[in-house]
Amino acid sequence: MHTDSLVCKTVRGHLLRNIGKGLSIASLGGSDYGTSAVEDAIRELSESQGYVIERLDADTPASFVLHNPAPLPWFDRSIPLQLVSTLIEQDDIACSRCGAVSGEPDPYDNTRRVRLYIDWIAGEPQVCLPELSDLRAICSVCNEGASNITLQRPTAHKLLVQIRRAPAPDQIEVLKWLASKFPKQMVELASSSKPKKPAES
Ligand SMILES: [Zn+2]
Repeated sequence: MHTDSLVCKTVRGHLLRNIGKGLSIASLGGSDYGTSAVEDAIRELSESQGYVIERLDADTPASFVLHNPAPLPWFDRSIPLQLVSTLIEQDDIACSRCGAVSGEPDPYDNTRRVRLYIDWIAGEPQVCLPELSDLRAICSVCNEGASNITLQRPTAHKLLVQIRRAPAPDQIEVLKWLASKFPKQMVELASSSKPKKPAES
């Protein structure tokens, strides 16, 4: 578990508010905390918290840029690399408890984003070819035991209430996401709901 020092929070906050922009050590908090404290924080964020921070040496002074707000998932070390790379390519991995996805704002800390922790559902399986279904993802919020306060997994009923209240363009975004996640079911639903021929009566 990471130690979240004030410098870390500050540097992370600056990077997350300036996605894609190069920031110097001074503008990351160096003028308040000193250069080496900021460098330590950048190392902590990259090595322990999963944020991919690029160092741009071409800038003078060198600057640091965060391109993606979502931290890389943490993987149990016993998970084969092949499975790890397959999982990283999927962009719809969600927390198996609350449904949060990587990079969502952390509800308890606005300088932080949700990170996913991937491990085995039932310990490392004793087979030569473990599968994705042997793995589960838990988000940083659930992992820290805070999720039962606000992040209960929503029921279908609650989701529908929310979606019905949303404006049509947002509803269409939801539809697109569902269509890409469940292509087969979409086709089945579309064909079963085709308008029927006028009744015989
Ligand atoms: Zn969660």
